[in-house]
Amino acid sequence: MPSGIPAPSRGFQNRRKCGNLMQGRIHSLESFGTVDGPGTRFVVFVQGCPMRCAYCHNPDTWDMNGGTLMEPSYIIEQYEKNKAFYANGGGLTVTGGEPLMQVDFVTELFTLAKEKGIHTCIDSSGIAFNSNNTPLLLKLDKLMALTDLVMLDIKHIDPEKHRELTQQPNENILKFAAYLDEKHVDMWIRHVVVPGITDDEKYLFDLGYFIGQFHNLKALDVLPYHTMGEKKYESLGMEYKLKGVPPMDKDKLIEKKKAILNGIKKRREEISLN
Ligand code: SF4
Repeated sequence: MPSGIPAPSRGFQNRRKCGNLMQGRIHSLESFGTVDGPGTRFVVFVQGCPMRCAYCHNPDTWDMNGGTLMEPSYIIEQYEKNKAFYANGGGLTVTGGEPLMQVDFVTELFTLAKEKGIHTCIDSSGIAFNSNNTPLLLKLDKLMALTDLVMLDIKHIDPEKHRELTQQPNENILKFAAYLDEKHVDMWIRHVVVPGITDDEKYLFDLGYFIGQFHNLKALDVLPYHTMGEKKYESLGMEYKLKGVPPMDKDKLIEKKKAILNGIKKRREEISLN
């Protein structure tokens, strides 16, 4: 567990959900996150993800049954210990794994956070979204009312290439972006540029053209692929699918970001003309 945050005692881990006691499956906690939203942040890495991104750095978060059970109140207690550090416009971020796979837990956590005036952020792939699932939508409506920012990771705009890269379709992910716009939840889009896989400028333009329609789009984070995750796969005895793919050249990244920005610009011009 990073940052020396103590794991709850064994007794705590073994406690089952009882009455209204809600627990989440947590991979780890990080008390000084600087890349997971605005300012310095307390970061909760939840356990469990249905995606299988070829470049995932955290394959140890995939297992839905792993992790440590924690109560929301325990997490808020850990936040409060260092709350002075988050006063620079920071707050609480839930990432993973996939936070929306534990929607009830995150809702309870954010309920407690909002009672204390904490800025709340979810970093999600959007894969759990399903516009045909009314009970889920009701839960998401409740969660989004407590969420200040969603960082939505769009892995690939092309449906087929998205499936190749992540083993999952992107239809619901793109619908989730539209849902966030409808709910007026601020959205940052994140996109990892992998040489030969997600760096085609036509698709990057298409990504920009897609997100350019949304009024809630507040930022675009274009991240370079790096190979640091490879060692983790080795240590877990897992196959690393991107073996031999070089890290993304940071100078070229500027051009790639420009392609996305051009797509955004084009869409916004069209919208203002209509
Ligand atoms: S969505 Fe995130 S946690 Fe899940 S496989 Fe992809 S990179 Fe890994």
